[in-house]
Amino acid sequence: MEMRYQEADHERATPDAIRALQLARVRVLLAAVSATNGFYRDHWRAAGVGDVAEIDSLEAFAARIPTVGKADFLADQEAAPPFGRRHEHARSQGVALYVSTTSGTSGQGQEVHVQTQAEWDAMGRVYRFLHRWAGLDPGDGLALALPLTMLGGGRLEYQGAVSYGLSVYPVGNYDAARKLEVIRRFQPAGVMGITAYLGRLGSELDGIPAEGVRAILTGGEGAGVEWLRRLEETWQATVYDRYGSSQAGNDHMFTCEHGIGTSERPGVLHNVDPYVLTEVVDPATGAHVAPGEVGELVVTILYRHDTPIVRCRMGDRAVYRPGGSCRCGRPFMGVEVASIGRADDMRKIKGVNVWPQAVDDVVFEHEAVAEYQVVLSSGGGGNDVATLRAMPTAALGAEEHAALVQTLTRAVEQRIGIRFDVELVEPGAIPQSDWKARRWLDRRDHIVGAGSAPRSEGAA
Ligand SMILES: [Zn+2]
Repeated sequence: MEMRYQEADHERATPDAIRALQLARVRVLLAAVSATNGFYRDHWRAAGVGDVAEIDSLEAFAARIPTVGKADFLADQEAAPPFGRRHEHARSQGVALYVSTTSGTSGQGQEVHVQTQAEWDAMGRVYRFLHRWAGLDPGDGLALALPLTMLGGGRLEYQGAVSYGLSVYPVGNYDAARKLEVIRRFQPAGVMGITAYLGRLGSELDGIPAEGVRAILTGGEGAGVEWLRRLEETWQATVYDRYGSSQAGNDHMFTCEHGIGTSERPGVLHNVDPYVLTEVVDPATGAHVAPGEVGELVVTILYRHDTPIVRCRMGDRAVYRPGGSCRCGRPFMGVEVASIGRADDMRKIKGVNVWPQAVDDVVFEHEAVAEYQVVLSSGGGGNDVATLRAMPTAALGAEEHAALVQTLTRAVEQRIGIRFDVELVEPGAIPQSDWKARRWLDRRDHIVGAGSAPRSEGAA
């Protein structure tokens, strides 16, 4: 396979050389932030860090510098509204600021994130890896199916594509029909959006692939490998996945030439190590997990000196893959494709931990299923009842109906380890989501706090 390097010297370095580069950049970052940012300086002092010059290894960095997260950002904004003390330095510079908020209709629980022009430019360099690895060339067209709003997601992708030299078609604010009209007319090489929405848009193709489209750029939410494979069939194009967040202010993990892989051997989302330091830690102990283990992502943006993000807990979990573990041989660390989920998306059902992506993978292996929902409810004896409501692509005869129910029941029990009641619903009965996939309804009343809060973080 032909390698598509964006920064060949970094992509062909050894993992040790990359770690050394990260340490050098961490030390410059710590010195700059400590000198200019009262929010972080106080946060670190409270954790017993006096002089950041003492941090002389990435291990010391992880062990001594405390994490930050949503609660810290909200408290900071409340104390110094609306931007918070952490943005004072950036605001004093007299330069254009890129201000975004996370989702929510009021100021309640809504994080404010800012970047300066210099940071915005550096963010563009990170996005170039995505487009290069996906086989797009400067001058190619990209249909961007994300609306431009106060959320980070949308504007970040727009800037990233422009930075690489793509001709962007910003169709995100149109309805699906108009989006496809633009795509069929201008034939961009790539289409970028939120994973579930790209499925919904694909279903409007009516089986006629959009000419010229060769790369589908998914992301913004977790999805199983089978669901991503299905997108490739629908669009007759290769899927490249990405991971990022509003907090990071970019996408910084991307699949390489090898793409999403298979359920048996998922591909790797490679972190762009020279610009972003990503740790995968055990949420209970804070220790880095071993290769193949699941942990929470903790992110440090190495180029953000004006509006720092230093050891930010993302609330996302994923399976860790060290540098050099993908067939491409890149030295960058990464996580397994389709292993990313919100730490709070995991459901405990009948005593078993169940990740939504695992159910995605089982269900979407069956081509007859167009969409599904899982309803969790309480049985008479205060036990969990899990019902899988599957929607076939077309109406089924009685025999096919019974066969599909039986197949799904067995497949779920085998792979998830617990029994779900399977029901089939009429085609059209389950709306295909326009935005994030919302496939789980938790109506259990015998477990306090079982119902998950609706989640619609404006992930990049
Ligand atoms: Zn790779």
